[in-house]
Amino acid sequence: MIPIFPPTILYVDPTGGLPPSMWISILSGIIASLGAVWLALKTFGRQLWASSAALIKRFYRAIIVVAILVLLGFFAAMSIFKDRKPAQSSATQRVLVLALDGLDPVLVEQFMGEGRLPNFSRLAAESGLHRLATTNPPQSPVAWSSFITASEPSRHGMFDFIKRDPKSYAPDLAIADRAHLSIPWKGTPFWEGPTLSRLGMTALRMPMAFPPPVVKGRILAGMGVWDIRGTEGTYIYLSTKAIDQPEARGIILRLEGETRALRGKIPGPYHAGQPDNVREPFVVDASRNPAVLKLQGKDYALPDGRWSDWIRVEFRFGPLNLQKVRAVTRMLLKRDREEVGLYISPLNFDPAAPFYPISHPGSYARDLVDAVGIYHTRGMPFDTPALTDGFLSDEDFLAHCRMIDEETARMLFFELGRFETGMLFSYFESPDIIQHMFWRGIDPEHPLYHTPEAERHRETIPQWYEQMDALAGRAHAALGGRGTLVVLSDHGFAPFRTAVHLNSVLRDLGFLKLQNDAPSSDQFFAAVDWRRTQAYAVGFNAIYLNLAGREQQGIVAPGDAPALSAKIKNLLEQWTLPQDGKKPIQQVFVGQEADKSPDNPNTPELIVGYGRGYRASWETALGGVPAQFSAPNESKWSGDHCIDPALVPGIFLSTDPALRASRLSEVGSAIEQYLSGVKP
Ligand SMILES: [Zn+2]
Repeated sequence: MIPIFPPTILYVDPTGGLPPSMWISILSGIIASLGAVWLALKTFGRQLWASSAALIKRFYRAIIVVAILVLLGFFAAMSIFKDRKPAQSSATQRVLVLALDGLDPVLVEQFMGEGRLPNFSRLAAESGLHRLATTNPPQSPVAWSSFITASEPSRHGMFDFIKRDPKSYAPDLAIADRAHLSIPWKGTPFWEGPTLSRLGMTALRMPMAFPPPVVKGRILAGMGVWDIRGTEGTYIYLSTKAIDQPEARGIILRLEGETRALRGKIPGPYHAGQPDNVREPFVVDASRNPAVLKLQGKDYALPDGRWSDWIRVEFRFGPLNLQKVRAVTRMLLKRDREEVGLYISPLNFDPAAPFYPISHPGSYARDLVDAVGIYHTRGMPFDTPALTDGFLSDEDFLAHCRMIDEETARMLFFELGRFETGMLFSYFESPDIIQHMFWRGIDPEHPLYHTPEAERHRETIPQWYEQMDALAGRAHAALGGRGTLVVLSDHGFAPFRTAVHLNSVLRDLGFLKLQNDAPSSDQFFAAVDWRRTQAYAVGFNAIYLNLAGREQQGIVAPGDAPALSAKIKNLLEQWTLPQDGKKPIQQVFVGQEADKSPDNPNTPELIVGYGRGYRASWETALGGVPAQFSAPNESKWSGDHCIDPALVPGIFLSTDPALRASRLSEVGSAIEQYLSGVKP
């Protein structure tokens, strides 16, 4: 497997330091305290000092006791103040949005028919369970940007997980703008409408909301928040034995020394263009049971084969080591006879002290720690690369997924307990991830279906739907009939059996040329001859024309673009795979009346809608051009949704029929409008 997000294009550039507001509050606190002391001394002067000294001498025991009592009283008052819950609201101006990424309407209906989803069945009987048209392309970052901005991709400008720089053709992640530390979409969030901006909202793990926007209420950013290395998630794996896996997408290191004191290092953050050499050393005593990790003066238990508790690690770097990044991680130690392997999950910013603000207000991330404990701050906390690379087993991975869902549910029910008016939004990514990874268990036509591992997972997806059903039931009960529950998904799901090398198809059709007509090219368009190339594919659904004036070596005159796009669409829709004569591409979409302004160079000329069972290959996503046109998908990543959007609608369920939407991009305005009509 190729590295999907190679570290060369990913970096963290943590030059921001503490957010200004935090500095201001700390500084103003210090200034205020100094001012108070100065005022006291000026007013009472020497007299105060002399009499206090005498008093202290005579009554020092009593003074200490009184001081302790005063402090205890103070802290008790603070904790009462902090835990004080608002009186349970009797208002009905409440909409709870349970966002279940990738929940598929066909599977929901199937499992409801089997009696496995009692809560969905009950809610659907009351008000109906509808299909929700997704975006084109039906990718989560695109879809959630549409949800937030209540607009289609041609307006908000998010078209794929991956974008490319037209000046270098280099692919990069599109879901967070690391260079400018800004939101990657354009538009206005629906919650800035008149009703929600009056009633307020709380959003938990809102995808595509990093850096967190200012809202009336609270928002915790989800998908888009990177790890401390600036990647979507780089795992670290250390082993006592040598591992030869150059294509692994994590960092593979050695554990050195004897069992009583195995030594290793945790790679930390780094500045773009500077040495990647910040490391924190640790020692593992694997002679004890459970093994003990010694890190930065603390001991942590590492039970064999079980996830550790949260482990905190602090990195210092930059000039005079003045910059500090605090991270949290969970580890998984495994012994195999004499050998020891230690998996370290991608390093999250510590939610109690994140390096970048990940919430609005900035203190909200820390308040949530007080309420629910430490949690993952990485926007996409599920480590699928470690599973497909073989460093996590299916069971390890599932256990991690459950922990993440449990912490998200704790956040949800904490907020439900103080939900007064407006919108409460809670996002669960797990249904999407579980279906991506375990579709092999339910699809008899998948190349891995008959493997013993897939056989063990016939029930994984149905059981996950049952968990989501139970969650919806609990959330509905907690709303207590005061307010409306909306359950929605951003797209459905489909099998991924065959990977299509779309650039190879474009080469076959004569639109993409390789240097010296080589039979193949590595990723990043290594051997593409741009002076003869008219079109190229990058990401999961996009085709760009090699446009003169936009691309570095563009050759297609803008005036010729419409005719060329139409020609490519026509030929791709006819194109058949040589091995079986089947058409992998169902529909190609042209133009979409997209915003073609020069500041929006990410708008593709064509969007490819694959048929059921097909998807762009990982090679295509990063600009590879293999010799073949396709490959059987033998990865655990066995289900997908980056196909023709008509084949993968999402779901929409509302407990009040007055709140309805048929497209994902309409949901936000529908909520806003609905709340404006509900009597307080
Ligand atoms: Zn999704």
